[in-house]
Parts: sequence; C-alpha cells; structure tokens
Amino acid sequence: MAQLPQGVDATAFRDATEKLRKIVGAEWVVADASLKSYWDHHSPVAEDSRAPSAAVCPDGVEQVQRILAVANEYRLPLWTIGTGKNFAYGGPSPLRAGYVVLDLKRMNRILEGNEDSAYALVEPGVSYFQLYEHLREKKSRLWIDCAAVGWGGVIGNALEHGAGYTPYADHFIMQCGMEVVLADGTVVLTGMGAMPKSTAWQLFKYGYGPHLDGMFTQSNFAVVTKMGIWLMPEPPAYKPFMITLPRDEDLAAAIEILRPLKLAMIIPNGVVVANALYEIAVHQTKAEVHPGAMRGPVPDDVVRKVAKERELGAWNAYGALYGIPIGVEKYWEIVKGSFSRIPGVKFYSKGDRAGDPGWEYREKLMRGVPNMTEFGIVNWQGGGHVNFTPVAPMTGDDAVKMQRMMRDIMHRHGFDYIAEFVATWRAMVNVLMLMFEQKDADARKRAHDCAKAIITEAAKAGYGELKANLEFMDLVASTYGACDNGYWKVCQRLKDELDPGGILSPGKSGIWPKKTV
Ligand SMILES: Cc1cc2nc3c(=O)[nH]c(=O)nc-3n(C[C@H](O)[C@H](O)[C@H](O)COP(=O)(O)OP(=O)(O)OC[C@H]3O[C@@H](n4cnc5c(N)ncnc54)[C@H](O)[C@@H]3O)c2cc1C
Repeated sequence: MAQLPQGVDATAFRDATEKLRKIVGAEWVVADASLKSYWDHHSPVAEDSRAPSAAVCPDGVEQVQRILAVANEYRLPLWTIGTGKNFAYGGPSPLRAGYVVLDLKRMNRILEGNEDSAYALVEPGVSYFQLYEHLREKKSRLWIDCAAVGWGGVIGNALEHGAGYTPYADHFIMQCGMEVVLADGTVVLTGMGAMPKSTAWQLFKYGYGPHLDGMFTQSNFAVVTKMGIWLMPEPPAYKPFMITLPRDEDLAAAIEILRPLKLAMIIPNGVVVANALYEIAVHQTKAEVHPGAMRGPVPDDVVRKVAKERELGAWNAYGALYGIPIGVEKYWEIVKGSFSRIPGVKFYSKGDRAGDPGWEYREKLMRGVPNMTEFGIVNWQGGGHVNFTPVAPMTGDDAVKMQRMMRDIMHRHGFDYIAEFVATWRAMVNVLMLMFEQKDADARKRAHDCAKAIITEAAKAGYGELKANLEFMDLVASTYGACDNGYWKVCQRLKDELDPGGILSPGKSGIWPKKTV
C-alpha cells in the first residue's frame, strides 16, 4: 500500500479519497498499482522514493475548488501537474512520498484560438502536440513555440520559465492572462481579465495594479486553470541555419559574435550552441560510441572522431532568420560575414543536411513543429537524467569559464560533459545534461554529489539556476539568499497568507508552508 500523507491516518485518508471520488468520479481517483505512472524513472533517487499516496484528476474549475476544500479539511498535501512530462526535473512525481497528485490532464480544452490577433487560451492539460495539431486542422497560419520535447504542456512549461526555439522562445514573456484558483477556492483572473467584460485579456499583459502573473510561476500559491499564449504568424520567409565551429576554443568567439546579433534582433530566435557530445548523445548510446567505458567520460579523441563522421563541429550553432525574403537574405549575409571571422566554420541551411536527424529536429523546433527526437538523449547511459540551467551574461569569457568549470565538475564525478548554451535576449542559459545509470545506486550517489557541486560552484561564480529538479529545489533556493533571504521572506509571507493550510505543492521551489505538511 502507498505511504499515507504525513499526519493523516488510514481512516481519514479513506474518507478523504471517498469524497474525492464523489467529486471527480471513481475512475479519476488513482490509488492502486497504476500510481506507478507518476514515478520519475530518470530520478537521481530511487524511483519509488517519491511514490504518491493517490492522484486525483478533475475535469474543470468547479471540481478543482471542491478538491481544494477536501484537501483543506483533511490536510492532504497536493502536488499539481499539468501534462506531467517535466522529465529531467522530476517528471510527474511529487516532491515527497505521501503527497496526492492533482493531475490536470483532463482539463485539456483549447478554449479559444484567435487567428486575427494570434493567441490561444488553453487549459493545463493541453500539450504542444495537441495545440499544434489543432492549428493545423484549422489551417491556421499561426506557429506555436515548443520545448524540445513535444509532449510537454503549454501551461506547465511556461510556469516553469521554459523556453523553445522560435522568436517566441521565452514562454512566460509570451503568456498573457491567467485564471487561477487559490487554496480557499477563490478564482482570480489576472491582467485585463480582472475587468468584467474585458476585451483584451489575452492581448495586453498588465491590466491595472500590480502584475501578479509571475507570482504563480515556479510557486505553490495557486492552481493555474487557464492561460493565454501568444502565437507567431508564419513569416513570409524563414531561413534556418547551422554553423559548425571546428575547435573547442571557438566557443568564446562565437558567443561574442552572437551577442550583438541577438541584441539587434537580427537573429531573433532561441539560438543554441551545442557541443559535439550533446549532438551525438541524442542519437547514439554511450555503449555504441565507446564500448566498455560506462564509467568515466568518453575520451576527447573518440568524441572528435564520431563528430567528424557526423560532420559536426566541436560546437554547433543553430539559429534562424525570419521576415520578408529580401530582409532575410540581407541578414544571412550579415550572419555569414560575422561568423566567417572564425577560421574553418561551415555554414548549412535548408537542403544542406538532408538525412541528418540532428539538423532535422532542430530545424523543426525553430519553426515550432513539436517532436520527440531530443528525448533520445535519455538513452545515453542507463536512463538517469538531471538537467541544470545556470544563467550567465552572454559573453565569450563567461562561456569559457562555465565550460571549464562544468566540464571539470562532471568529469571529476565520472560523467560526460554534455552541454549547450542557449542565447536569450541578453543572457545565455548553460543547459547541462547529467546522464547516469539510474538503476545503479553508486551512479545515483555520484550524480547527486555532482549535482550539488554544479549548483553550488556555479552560484559561487554568480551563475544561478533558472529551474531545479525536485531533489535540488531547497539547495537552489538557498543560493538566492541575498539581503538575509529577503526574497524568500516575501514568498513565505505570501504562502502562509494564501494557503494557511499548506496544502498546495509544499516545498515547490523551496517554498515550504509554515506548518510543514
Ligand atoms: C531531453 C529533454 C529536453 C528538454 N528540453 C526542454 C526545452 O527545450 N525547453 C524547456 O523549457 N524544457 C525542456 N525540458 C524540460 C521539460 O521536459 C519541459 O519543460 C516540459 O515541458 C515540462 O513538462 P510539462 O510541460 O508536462 O509540465 P508539468 O509536469 O505539467 O508541470 C511542470 C511543473 O509546473 C507546475 N505546474 C504545472 N501545471 C500547473 C498548474 N496548472 N498550476 C500550478 N502549477 C502547475 C508544477 O509545479 C509542475 O511540477 C527538456 C527535458 C528533457 C528530458
């Protein structure tokens, strides 16, 4: 039998789940072996250590309100998920065993798609695949922007400050208007939505008064039940490109060249500069690339050999140009002229890498076509996978500093350095993929130690994580302790005021209720 929520005895739990069944229907309360579908099979801790006590799947706002009332009555800790595919950060699993997953997958309606003003209003169960297919069926000229793995959710990803690869890559910037339900059942519409009969809920982000939307991201202050998302009109011209950089040390020059092109919005999308091993690991396993070397990093000469076979550089930049044909061609001249300063670079665009699955999936992502190719990376080494996302200024010096620091930490713990830099508006996110043998307790322990070193050493250098795997939420939160934890003191006061029973996702982003459940 699954672990009971802390402080809830078996009789109370049976009564509570009985009430939940009456709200959502018996088939939508999961309390049997199928709870395994909420385990995180890529976790740095044993898979069953975060087994939920139950899961409940409401069909709408009114059911959410009634579930919250039951949770408050019995002090059930809920863990909210949307599409529940947050792998590399915990998947659908709750932070602790004994939580009840509030699974919003049935709330998967696309409530509005506005072609003229280019937005959609969606519920939390809507995945990128679903929104994409919906627009294609309607013969829409609108693009979505999706994370690399297409089964993720429009809302869940934006709430986690996630990103994609078109010019609309920053999903929280492109969000407009929310409906949220507070722990006491109060429904709040944010931004322009607060005005009855508002004509611009999904068109203008702010409304009047403090802008609350950010408060409901990476937090546990409410359940988000609707969100507006801006969509990009298909441009008349689109030119995706890849630039291979032959030497490891070309990274610094590439980032220096990229910054002014990003600032001037000549390259407007979420540009990726990935190392060769990242590109290889998406498509091949470690055992194929370097048989017998499961422990310890793949040697550089082996990486170079495989990279050469696959026509990859030591670093590989993917970007795209958007607009009218003449503008795109002019911008392409500027991009080529700028990167040609690096000896030996090669430029590729449409048609140049036919049959290369690495190019094909990234080219799709840069025009918002969801796919699952990148998920192949979890097969690199036994399924264990944790992501890191330290953020740094977009400079060559910072790129080199991070590269040295992270490669050293990952190698020191016996893992491969699989990394990419993703250019945002002014900063870059250093996405690090830590892959390990999930079933091997020693590998999990080393992954754990490695994760702690990545987070703390990055923070010492001034590079903060932008999101965290469940296992490291408290640690990441502790690195944001400026002004005697001023930021967290505000969060704590909000938490205790908005959710006095402490029922919503206790511990999310390191925010624990006063009365820890
Ligand atoms: C190989 C690989 C590549 C990846 N690439 C990317 C990438 O390119 N970009 C990127 O951003 N991420 C990436 N990820 C991370 C992750 O897969 C995505 O961010 C994914 O979209 C998150 O899962 P989800 O959308 O199903 O979110 P969910 O699991 O549904 O939600 C994530 C979290 O958001 C909160 N939440 C969700 N819904 C609600 C709600 N309605 N109310 C309140 N809180 C809620 C909860 O805390 C929940 O745990 C990658 C992961 C892997 C394994």
